[in-house]
Amino acid sequence: MRIGIGYDVHPFQQGRPLILGGVSIPSPVGLLGHSDADVLTHAIMDALLGAVGRGDIGRLFPDTDPALAGIRSLTLLEKVMAEVKALGFVPVNVDTVIMAQFPKLAPYTAAMQERLAPILGLEPDRLNIKATTTEGLGFIGRGEGIAAQAVVLLKAGSGHSP
Ligand code: MG
Repeated sequence: MRIGIGYDVHPFQQGRPLILGGVSIPSPVGLLGHSDADVLTHAIMDALLGAVGRGDIGRLFPDTDPALAGIRSLTLLEKVMAEVKALGFVPVNVDTVIMAQFPKLAPYTAAMQERLAPILGLEPDRLNIKATTTEGLGFIGRGEGIAAQAVVLLKAGSGHSP
């Protein structure tokens, strides 16, 4: 078994789309980033890379690489999963939390689950997605951006988890 943790933050920016877990969410502002700024998917990727001891997504996908400008984070997650599998591991479960003062995300977490779980090789109930505000506190509470955290458990080998 291996465990990994991931954390990511992106600032809000006018005129950008809001993509979380590969799902486009109606919002007056989106997130700024070199890729599509999908902060949830980034946290999951960092947790996966952490579990297999392969650093972080900044090392794998530098934000100075013009080829990665605007890239879908789901494409990057597919690459990370290929790496995880090549190293002989598969996810057992993934738990996540998105921290955002707005917009309300609960109506979209099921869609995120359906989008991400197949890429992770998991049944949807093995990928948990929670959303919380910070009760108006800090940079998240002031509506300056969104943060996400993820924890993954991997096991050696392939096939369905027990
Ligand atoms: Mg990021």
